[in-house]
Amino acid sequence: MEKFNTFYCPHCFGYLNITDKIIFKIKSKSNENGLVMLSAKISDYTSILSESIKKVEDELYEFYCPLCSKCLNLESSDMKLVKIYMKDKSNKKYEVYFSGICGEHCTYVIKDCKLEHFGPHSKMYMDQLEKYKEYFDSHL
Ligand SMILES: [Zn+2]
Repeated sequence: MEKFNTFYCPHCFGYLNITDKIIFKIKSKSNENGLVMLSAKISDYTSILSESIKKVEDELYEFYCPLCSKCLNLESSDMKLVKIYMKDKSNKKYEVYFSGICGEHCTYVIKDCKLEHFGPHSKMYMDQLEKYKEYFDSHL
């Protein structure tokens, strides 16, 4: 069986993925609640939502940990970026950011002072992420 990276909550450290799917509780601007499944493959932007919540292009969604219910959107990014942690097969830890806006396909991975970016829209938050990089270095 293929071994996937593990994604986990920065608040309760609970695991958010089941094999290659990451699960979040989300809330739309119009207060619909539901679950979303994202791919654990970093540059795969397919998503599956529960029927209780509509997928609206360009709309910002709030992401919550399904285990501790804490919000994962960063206030410092006007809630636009969602932050989680990841560890790889050799237990190395990474900080992962992605856009909470439907249709904005960008992912950032920070490890060892290095910022990697993925997705067609990844230029959007680069300046902001450079700042988090310094913060990350001093806190891990
Ligand atoms: Zn949590």
